[in-house]
Amino acid sequence: MEILIPAERIQSRVAEMATDIARVYNGKPVTVVGILTGCLMFTADLIRRIDLPLRVGFLTASSYRGPTTVASKLIIRDDLLPDISGRHILLLDDILDTGKTLTRVVAHLIDRGAEAVKVAVLLRKIGRQEVPFEPDFVGFTIPDQFVVGYGLDFNDEYRHLPDIAVLQASEPR
Ligand code: 5GP
Ligand code: MG
Repeated sequence: MEILIPAERIQSRVAEMATDIARVYNGKPVTVVGILTGCLMFTADLIRRIDLPLRVGFLTASSYRGPTTVASKLIIRDDLLPDISGRHILLLDDILDTGKTLTRVVAHLIDRGAEAVKVAVLLRKIGRQEVPFEPDFVGFTIPDQFVVGYGLDFNDEYRHLPDIAVLQASEPR
């Protein structure tokens, strides 16, 4: 596999993001919400560097594509999330692709009573967005290639790799 972003570059960029985030929140308490499972490493590395009063929780968002439907349905499960009403949420996702997941999860958190939601993504893919969505913090912008590692999977494999690598196009997704 071709390494796209080596572990050291990820670490230094995540540290920069944490500094930016702390500056923007300016001492205000934040509830970090990670979208499992891809957010695993990003969340763990980022929150250790954010100098703010901080809570953390997780939810899952999975899209199911039925055999006859083109549109995917997103199932959000948030039963493990702490109470977020009135809180300032920093939502974390591994990668912004079409934008559908984040658009829907932000709406869901507002629905659940969040006071405000900002979004940080580690990766943003060029030329893939289908819905207008602007994240507040972006780690790296990457070309339209399927990546794995640092939390990102292919069939639940490769999440543990410390680097972000491109899965060869010859391999099926
Ligand atoms: P969106 O709703 O923005 O299209 O989808 C975002 C989700 O799709 C991500 O949270 C991630 O789970 C998955 N995804 C999109 N692109 C990639 C990729 O290149 N590699 C992996 N492993 N997952 C991806
Ligand atoms: Mg995901």
